[in-house]
Amino acid sequence: MVRTDAIVLGAGIVGTSVALHLAKRGLAVALVDRRGPGEETSYGNAGIIEGNSIFPPVFPHNLEVLVRIALKRAPEANYHIAFLPRVARWLADFYAWSAPDRILETARLMRPLFARAVAEHEALMAEADATRYLRKNGWLKLYRSEASFAATETEREVAASYGLPVRVLDVDAVRALEPSLAPVFRGAAYWEGAASVSDPLAVTRAYADRFTVLGGVVLAGDARTLHRSDGRWRVEADEGSIEADAVVVALGPWSPDVLAPLGIKVPLGIKRGYHRHYNAKGNAALSRPVIDTEIGYALTPMEQGIRLTTGAEFADRDAPPTPVQFDRLMPRAKELFPLGEPNEAEPWLGRRPNMPDSLPVLGRAPGQDGLWLAFGHGHWGLTMAAVTGRLIAELMTGATPFADPAPYRAERFG
Ligand SMILES: Cc1cc2nc3c(=O)[nH]c(=O)nc-3n(C[C@H](O)[C@H](O)[C@H](O)COP(=O)(O)OP(=O)(O)OC[C@H]3O[C@@H](n4cnc5c(N)ncnc54)[C@H](O)[C@@H]3O)c2cc1C
Repeated sequence: MVRTDAIVLGAGIVGTSVALHLAKRGLAVALVDRRGPGEETSYGNAGIIEGNSIFPPVFPHNLEVLVRIALKRAPEANYHIAFLPRVARWLADFYAWSAPDRILETARLMRPLFARAVAEHEALMAEADATRYLRKNGWLKLYRSEASFAATETEREVAASYGLPVRVLDVDAVRALEPSLAPVFRGAAYWEGAASVSDPLAVTRAYADRFTVLGGVVLAGDARTLHRSDGRWRVEADEGSIEADAVVVALGPWSPDVLAPLGIKVPLGIKRGYHRHYNAKGNAALSRPVIDTEIGYALTPMEQGIRLTTGAEFADRDAPPTPVQFDRLMPRAKELFPLGEPNEAEPWLGRRPNMPDSLPVLGRAPGQDGLWLAFGHGHWGLTMAAVTGRLIAELMTGATPFADPAPYRAERFG
């Protein structure tokens, strides 16, 4: 039996950042995962630290887009029809939270976390010797039509009201930054304040290594063994039992597996997403992430090649992969950038853990002493991991939190 101050369940980028922040504050911490740090959702994202994000990806209100998705012709989204009745309630809530006034409110509530997202990662990367993976050169949102550019005007106006730098670029200005992009678009918004990483897995591993240098232990084990024993929390790791007064659930899309048996219900939805790495043809290159807005995919230069990441797929978390979006979008992606052959046999499948209001769940668990929650980061888990680590560690150690945690409480869902 090992006794620690805290157990963190889940060694994705979120749990690892929480564990690191706790270790920095002198706590003895065990980080438990059934896999190695960063090998699930946190492995495969587009690598963008979106400190400048304003609006969450919303339920489409445009009829043409909805019809395209319904007919399974949309490159940006897919669904498994048999799954839809099971998520009807979540989709209805997501639709409600996608209303213009509500996403303005979401943008306001997210701002304290986003405002520090890049700086907090930069600080962790500096101490974890991972700065070589960080690029502070923003990202580009490309628009293929005047109409789609105009439709996102509010986003830029709200950004300006928050003092966030965004530059509108014409085709020549974009190609001055990224000469390998073909002029199949009409213009772009250049979000200069964003950063990105060239290897999300390596960043999580670097944070985990730093955590162990500070005395933390990374253990293999099944989080579903979590239970109460003589007033403390206990987890059965492969190497034996661990006990602590405090435990943090940071299991991303698997968080309900541990919370449901404890009677804690959270409306966590899953937006699946895929990636695949491609070699660039000739000496073509990218130096920052690029999103092809209407088509709904991103291209990010990674250590493994050009990583193409897809939009959302609504399907059971554990259903086999159905990467049909690649067939729909590859012709459009290849006309934008000279993608060569994929350099791996199959696309990777990940699962974004999404709350219907697009805010994460952070803070104490209702009705369970010593249980803390840090999940539901959706499209922004890499972005918000370092700030989540700070906030949860501040709350757990009784320090003054850098942001008001009230908007992120699990109780907001009743
Ligand atoms: C295609 C795609 C693109 C994305 N792009 C971006 C982006 O550009 N920027 C951004 O900020 N975010 C992006 N995201 C979102 C981001 O990747 C996620 O929000 C983030 O990785 C979630 O991290 P996490 O630590 O909560 O979950 P995870 O990384 O999934 O970690 C959860 C951990 O729990 C462990 N676990 C699960 N069950 C058990 C169990 N029973 N016992 C023990 N361990 C268990 C898993 O092994 C895993 O390591 C993207 C996501 C996808 C899918």
